[in-house]
Amino acid sequence: MNRLKVMIIGSGVAGSILARRLSRLPALEVHCLEKVLPDDHSEAGTGLNVGPNAIKALQLTDPELAAQVLQASLPWDSWRLSLADGQVLFDLPLSQVADNPGIRIRWSELYRVLRQGAGEVIRYGAHVSSIAPSPTSPGKTCVSWTQEGVEHSLDGIDLLIGADGRYSQTRATFSGAPEPVHVGVAIIRTLVEDTSNGLIDDYAQWFNGPHRLLAFRVPPGHIYIAATFPVEKGAEIPDAWRTAEVMRQTYTPATGQPSPEMQWLLDAMCDHLSDSHWARMQESPVLFAEPLLPVMYIGDSAHGMAPTLGQGATQAIEDACVAATLVERAVAAGNLDVRSWLTELSDAREERIRFVMQLSLDATDTMLAGADPVAGARWKTEAPFLEKLSRLFRDVRFASDAQREAS
Ligand SMILES: Cc1cc2nc3c(=O)[nH]c(=O)nc-3n(C[C@H](O)[C@H](O)[C@H](O)COP(=O)(O)OP(=O)(O)OC[C@H]3O[C@@H](n4cnc5c(N)ncnc54)[C@H](O)[C@@H]3O)c2cc1C
Repeated sequence: MNRLKVMIIGSGVAGSILARRLSRLPALEVHCLEKVLPDDHSEAGTGLNVGPNAIKALQLTDPELAAQVLQASLPWDSWRLSLADGQVLFDLPLSQVADNPGIRIRWSELYRVLRQGAGEVIRYGAHVSSIAPSPTSPGKTCVSWTQEGVEHSLDGIDLLIGADGRYSQTRATFSGAPEPVHVGVAIIRTLVEDTSNGLIDDYAQWFNGPHRLLAFRVPPGHIYIAATFPVEKGAEIPDAWRTAEVMRQTYTPATGQPSPEMQWLLDAMCDHLSDSHWARMQESPVLFAEPLLPVMYIGDSAHGMAPTLGQGATQAIEDACVAATLVERAVAAGNLDVRSWLTELSDAREERIRFVMQLSLDATDTMLAGADPVAGARWKTEAPFLEKLSRLFRDVRFASDAQREAS
């Protein structure tokens, strides 16, 4: 049998799931290149809250893998929002807006489980030197890389998948690097040992004006903390912010009395400022497929979004589940027309992703300059927002399923 050559660049969240699923299809010859070594977690030092929607999608697509992910995580059951002095503004059980809990997990653990699930198809320590249209087969692509000092090349690739994250080399090669759209919020993230004696557990946020701390516990005994503060859109994060003194001033309420949770988080944050991850919230334009060449993008390479609702890795999982399902169905039906797969993926995902990006942006209102957390919390307890959250967390059906049911 003439097998289709599939090359996946990157085995992060989306690439690992897709590598696992597609490598099981006899009609496909699947290759997956990952630049880091299996135990290199330097790019995954923090925690993640992964939405109920991703867990639902994974359970529908790959129950075995979903069970392994659940085993390495804690459930995300609620969302509490308070002021810095401890006054609770809302406390939402996710069961009100979701069919199942989300999860809290160490990022490195998520990678470990997903990469193990893909097995030997992933080639680690692969440094891609060139991604290009095929010099020999028009309409196909060619990838060259070096691994352990040896140069390799794969030509005549029928489907190239850019799962190489936010700074995707694949997307930059064919479409140019996407222009980031800044939100006007800086975010500092860190993972610390849990010495809080139970003060911090499920997903919660504390606001002092527009300045927010978010935290939750992840196994095996760590607390993930993310602090945000407004910055001018596109401007660099001022160096002056990177001191414990400024952090304390910023997050301590006017009463001078932070809640015990806030005090613990502030102390922990200040002790870890130098090894924290600093970034500016940004979005990037959506693109799931190249129009002329057989190139697919999934996860962050297809769309960057504001991290406010924890939908980055979550949508990478949804993307991978949808892409895997539609390729599996097409192959089972004898359809090896890669262009039709790309069209189906874009049709299935674009509207959903734009909805998720907009909702994430809307929910960032409390973190913008001059924001009032009390007003920002209020509208999040009202029906229109809760309906959108319910759509976000529940509506993971593939577009084609919805269409089939409707017709
Ligand atoms: C500090 C931080 C905290 C976050 N918290 C959350 C959260 O709580 N919830 C949430 O849902 N999302 C969160 N996100 C976002 C989330 O991590 C990403 O959206 C998610 O990892 C995207 O998955 P992906 O598969 O597209 O890309 P990635 O997971 O980034 O994977 C890309 C992979 O490609 C590899 N790679 C890159 N370039 C190449 C190349 N040229 N050749 C070979 N391999 C390559 C990388 O090494 C990596 O393994 C967070 C992000 C950050 C930075």
